[in-house]
Amino acid sequence: MANANLEKLKASLRGELIEPTDQDYDIARKVHNGMIDRRPRAIARCANVADVMTAVNFARENGMLLAVRCGGHNAGGLGVCDDGLVIDLSGMKSVRVDPAEKTAQVEGGCTWSDVDHVTHAFGMATPSGVISTTGVGGLTLGGGIGYLSRKCGLSIDNLLAADMVLADGSFVTASAKQNEDLYWAIRGGGGNFGVVTSFLFRLHPIKTVHAGPMLWPLEEAAEVMRWYREFIVEAPPDINGFFAFLVVPPGPPFPEHLHNKAMCGVVWCYTGSPDKADETFQPIRGFKKPALDLVGPMPHPMMQGMFDPLYPPGLQWYWRADFVKELSDKAIALHVEHGSKIPTMHSTMHLYPINGAVHNTGKNDTAFSYRDVTWAQVIVGVDPNPANKDLITAWTKTYFDALHPHSAGGAYVNFMMDEGQDRIKATYRDNYERLVRVKTKYDPKNLFRVNQNIKPAATQAAAGND
Ligand SMILES: Cc1cc2nc3c(=O)[nH]c(=O)nc-3n(C[C@H](O)[C@H](O)[C@H](O)COP(=O)(O)OP(=O)(O)OC[C@H]3O[C@@H](n4cnc5c(N)ncnc54)[C@H](O)[C@@H]3O)c2cc1C
Repeated sequence: MANANLEKLKASLRGELIEPTDQDYDIARKVHNGMIDRRPRAIARCANVADVMTAVNFARENGMLLAVRCGGHNAGGLGVCDDGLVIDLSGMKSVRVDPAEKTAQVEGGCTWSDVDHVTHAFGMATPSGVISTTGVGGLTLGGGIGYLSRKCGLSIDNLLAADMVLADGSFVTASAKQNEDLYWAIRGGGGNFGVVTSFLFRLHPIKTVHAGPMLWPLEEAAEVMRWYREFIVEAPPDINGFFAFLVVPPGPPFPEHLHNKAMCGVVWCYTGSPDKADETFQPIRGFKKPALDLVGPMPHPMMQGMFDPLYPPGLQWYWRADFVKELSDKAIALHVEHGSKIPTMHSTMHLYPINGAVHNTGKNDTAFSYRDVTWAQVIVGVDPNPANKDLITAWTKTYFDALHPHSAGGAYVNFMMDEGQDRIKATYRDNYERLVRVKTKYDPKNLFRVNQNIKPAATQAAAGND
């Protein structure tokens, strides 16, 4: 890449262009997963839509590999690339609530904490994930599974419109009325189709939640899992709970006698009427008294940020995921076997409910295909120490291999690392061919390929349909 060209790009941007010789370069190229160490040729920290258009045109005209970054949380580090140009949206953080319409217009570089902070002031919320530092961009475009899924659906089920810069540098809006094919594809199809500069979300009247973890000893894990698999399918949509194997962090609010102890638990979030909270939790507490019960009333953003301090940027992360329809007794036995061998304090296994309101949308209505399952399962080996990389990777792979035969086939794209084209196809199932058609129309030369890539028709043919 000729330096003269980059000088031209730099002069055209209202935001910064960060290059390897700049002081901020090593900070700007870092993503959340400390295992990822990529060195882009330049990072365009865009200030507005015009900057995004300029950067997209520049990458295309100069044949540069292009990555797009929002929160930088992606498992496989898809918000950064080697040798190419990174469009970093983290400077675009405006959030505007329309209280009458009950919507929020959210710029493409926001984290969920940015969104919750503003919507909460209006007594409203939209579905996100379970950690508030995650980017709105990546989480939404892959689907968006979190505490509000059973009540309000996935993040994409609340996405009313998206403003986008396409591969040819043009600006469009995708919604139910404009560019409907694009609107269908971005709801689960990831960053394959362009840069979303702004999202329009539907808001819900959610302000205070009754939420927090309940933990039980590992010896009771099989019994808890068997109870949970029945409960969470039948439970009212006001209550969400994801099952976890975890190690209790050594600090408050956890009592000292449980510190560093491997346990199982369910992290609950109840969004119904406060008067009915005790009644709703009664059958849960009645099933088996937890060793620790931290459920209580709190502002919604507090619940969203509860686990943020546990997962600061820069830890080593190794991810493996699957969708799961049924949790058989055999699968539960395997979960208990491998979940009990959890190797480090930050490592965990979660089963996130894919039921309740998520089932109100059909499996072909958006690109997100696995609407007919019950859980999204994720196993993550996590540790601050790079020397433990092999340890956390081996545990994750062994656990995944044992449970994969009991899964539905594909995995949630946002919980996948680089697992190849067959896995992507398995994840989109009969939505895959339609995604290829939309990709071919909007990005025929695959400019946006640093993602769980849907290859356009020409590239598919050249690669022999790999
Ligand atoms: C600690 C942690 C907790 C998580 N919890 C959840 C959870 O509860 N629920 C859940 O569903 N997922 C969760 N995830 C997974 C998360 O959804 C993915 O990692 C997601 O890719 C992160 O989005 P991001 O914007 O932060 O990532 P980035 O790394 O910035 O981007 C990820 C991908 O999205 C594309 N992209 C991002 N923004 C845009 C945009 N505006 N326009 C076009 N393309 C864009 C990028 O090009 C890239 O391919 C979690 C991840 C972590 C690390």
